[in-house]
Amino acid sequence: MKSDKTKSDELEKEIKDIAAFPESEFTSIIRDVGFECDCCGKCCTSEFNDHVFLLDEDAERIIDNVGRDCLLPAPYYDFCDNLGRFYVIGYALKSKTNGNCIFYTGKRCEHYELRPSICRIYPYMLHREADEHGNIEFRQVSGLDEHGTYHNELDDAACRDISGDVKKYEIAFIRQKIKFLHLIKTHFKKHGLTHKRQVYDKRMRDFEKGGEIEVYVFYNGEFDKNIISKTIN
Ligand code: SF4
Ligand code: SF4
Repeated sequence: MKSDKTKSDELEKEIKDIAAFPESEFTSIIRDVGFECDCCGKCCTSEFNDHVFLLDEDAERIIDNVGRDCLLPAPYYDFCDNLGRFYVIGYALKSKTNGNCIFYTGKRCEHYELRPSICRIYPYMLHREADEHGNIEFRQVSGLDEHGTYHNELDDAACRDISGDVKKYEIAFIRQKIKFLHLIKTHFKKHGLTHKRQVYDKRMRDFEKGGEIEVYVFYNGEFDKNIISKTIN
């Protein structure tokens, strides 16, 4: 198992690699793909995304303008302590019962001006993923050929803006992760806690059956306590 220092060093290296990814290469990919959104709305539905992750700044903007009720701990919790409490890197937007984003009306985003960073950059990305042969490389566009239109003419300034925004998002996400891991380390040490996989699995089974769980969400440098269950969320 990797030490905290190794993980943190890897994440710092990832930030450097993203920052160093040549702008000319990224903008040229964006220009060649020539993607334009046709407003089909699939990225706001469970067909494309099972949750909308919020950076701290997104969560803050949505809490201030819409309220906390539309947020929940991002799914796929990172840790569970020996007392059965979960910890996760951030909030996500809630989904409706059909799995669509809570802000999606079926035609449009109800809070378009407030939409999270991930919605603003989608479908662009800049993080490493394995291809079908297992080769790990940077991926730049999500769901290529599955939505929108292609080979449209994009001007250089628009391509550079997209490239800059995507890099900014990916780096902000990793920075949030580094801070989260640092807080986990100090919190567990201070309270004599350990991550327990067996406890994690058992509590998740309880949750799936309708039980309540305690989830601590990393938000603005602290842990926010949430009590959630399938029925009340
Ligand atoms: S916040 Fe708006 S743009 Fe983002 S997934 Fe939800 S409905 Fe779509
Ligand atoms: S970004 Fe893609 S999936 Fe989302 S509305 Fe536009 S075309 Fe549809």
